[in-house]
Amino acid sequence: MTSSPALVILGPSALATARRIQALYPQAVIHGLRDRVEADAAYDDFGDTLRGLYRSGTPIIALCAAGIVIRSLAPQLASKGAEPPVLAVAEDGSAVVPLLGGLGGVNRMAREIAMRLQVSAAITTSGELRFGTCLLDPPSGYVLADLEQGKRFVSDLLGGENLRIDGDAPWLDQSKLPLAEDGRRTLHITPLQRAARPDELLIHPRSLLVRVEGSEGLPARVHQLLEHSGLAAKALAALLAPATLMTDKALANAARELNVALRFITPYTTLPAAIAQLDGLQVLQAQSPDAAQAIGRPRGRLSVIGLGPGAAEHLTPAVRRALDEAQDLLGYETYVRMAEPLRDDQVRHCSDNREELQRARHAFELAASGRRVVVVSSGDPGVFAMAAAVLEALEESAAPADWHAVELQVLPGVSAALATAAKAGAPLGHDFCLISLSDNLKPWAVIESRLDHAGAADLAMAFYNPISKARPWQLGRALEIVHTHRTPDTVVVLGRDIGRPAEALRVVSLGELTPEMVDMRTLVIIGSSQTRRLPRGDGGEWVYTPRSYPQNG
Ligand code: SAH
Repeated sequence: MTSSPALVILGPSALATARRIQALYPQAVIHGLRDRVEADAAYDDFGDTLRGLYRSGTPIIALCAAGIVIRSLAPQLASKGAEPPVLAVAEDGSAVVPLLGGLGGVNRMAREIAMRLQVSAAITTSGELRFGTCLLDPPSGYVLADLEQGKRFVSDLLGGENLRIDGDAPWLDQSKLPLAEDGRRTLHITPLQRAARPDELLIHPRSLLVRVEGSEGLPARVHQLLEHSGLAAKALAALLAPATLMTDKALANAARELNVALRFITPYTTLPAAIAQLDGLQVLQAQSPDAAQAIGRPRGRLSVIGLGPGAAEHLTPAVRRALDEAQDLLGYETYVRMAEPLRDDQVRHCSDNREELQRARHAFELAASGRRVVVVSSGDPGVFAMAAAVLEALEESAAPADWHAVELQVLPGVSAALATAAKAGAPLGHDFCLISLSDNLKPWAVIESRLDHAGAADLAMAFYNPISKARPWQLGRALEIVHTHRTPDTVVVLGRDIGRPAEALRVVSLGELTPEMVDMRTLVIIGSSQTRRLPRGDGGEWVYTPRSYPQNG
C-alpha cells in the first residue's frame, strides 16, 4: 500500500488550493510553515521537511515554485532507491508539474490533481505523451521484469516500431500504443521466468499462489519450486496456508521476505488448478492478479490506537499508518471524528462511550473475519481507555478461539496528563501517579484510599474523569483528602481541551481550586510539595517539579 501524500505549503495563500487537493486524497496531511499558516501540521524548515518526506518515501505535493523543490531535494537525488512521486503545484492551482517519481506514478497523480483543479498537467515524459500510458509503470498486480531493458523497448516504440500484445493487459485497452498484429515488438504478459529478448517487454502478472502446509524450509523451498517450474518469483501473489497456521510467526516472516501476501484457506476454499509441484509445495495459477488476491482470506488485525490529545501533529506515524490501512473503525463517535479525514470505503462503527466491552467484542468479530480493524481512543489507549477493555473481552471464557488468532496490537498515544504537563512545563518531572476519579467501575472507597496514600507519599497526581453531571460531588471530596496532605499554596494545573482548538491552560493554587473550575474535559494536575511556579518571558508561568527531592523531606 503506498502512503498518503504530504501537501507542503509556505503560507496562507496556498491553503485553499491545498484543501482542494486534500479533498482528492482525504488522508493527505497539509504541512504549513510554523507561525505563517495554520495547517494540519507545522514545520520549521522547508528543506529539512521535504528531504525527510522524500527519504521516508512519502509522495510530496509542494505548493510553491518548482525551483525551490528541486534545490531542496537536490542533495538527496544522487542516492539510489525507490523514489516517491514529487510534484510542484502553483499555489493558485493554475499549474501542476510532475517532477520526480516517474515509476512511482507521478504522472498519474499529476493528471488526477490537474483534473480536480481543472487545468492540464505538465506531462513531459515522451512515451507517456505519445502512448497515453507509462509502459514501465504497470498498475498494481503487474510487475516489469527488467527496468533497464524496458527503457530501451519504449525508445524503440518512440522510434516508430509497432507492437503486438501477447497475454492479458486489460489496462492498455484505452492506450494509444502503435498496435499491429504483425508488430515487430512484443509485450508479453506471462508468469514464466526467462530473460527478455531485445524485441520484447516482459511483464509478470501476480497471479501465482504457492500452497504450503507448514513453514519449514521457507522461503528457500518456494524459490526452488518456482525455479524448478520455470516461473518468475515476481509473479507470485501470495502464500496459501491452512487457517490453523494463522499465528505461525515463521510463516508470516517467510511471506514478508518473499514480499507476498499470506492468505489462509480451509478444506472448503475453492482453489484454482495446480500447475506445478515439488516436494510437498504446489503452485496454483489464478485467472488474474485480482482473482489471486481474492482466494482464501488474510489474518485479521485489531489495532487499539491512541490519537493523542487531538492535534494532528501529536499523532504518531504508526497510528497514522494504522488509520490509513484500517477497513473498520470503532469508537466513541467524538473520537472516530477526531480520526478524520477517512476514506469513503472505511466503515465507521460509532457507539456510545459507555459500551466499551460490547465495542471490543464487535472489534474482535470483525477482525476474526479477516478485516483490518482499528479501535480508537483519545490520548493513550492504555490509560483509562479501550486497550484494557479489548483484553478483558479476549480473556472472557466465551471468547471464540478465532479471536485469539487475530493479530492484536496496541499503539501508544500522548495521554492527556502528558500533553497537559508539557504545556505547563514539567509538573510531572518527578514521581507521579494517574488516578481516574470515576467511580463507575470501582468503589468510591478505593478512590479515597488511593488519594490518601498518594497524598501521603507526596506524589504529584493527575486526575482523569474529574467530574461529570452524574458524578457531581466526587471532586470536592477528593480535594478534601488532598488538603489533609498538602498546603493551600500547592501548585495546581488545569488543562482543558489540550491539543484541540478550544485549548485552555490554567495555573492556580490548591487553596483557590474549586470544582466549578473543572469539567469532564479537564485534566487536573495536583503538584507535590516540591512543585514550583516560574515566570515566563511572555507573561505566563512555567510549572515544574524538580528532579531531586530534599534528603530529609
Ligand atoms: N485515554 C485518554 C483518557 C481517557 S479518560 C488519555 O490517555 O488521555 C477521559 C479524561 O481524560 C477526561 O475526563 C479528561 O480528564 C482527560 N482528557 C482527555 N483528553 C483531554 C484533553 N484533550 N485535554 C484535557 N483533558 C483531557
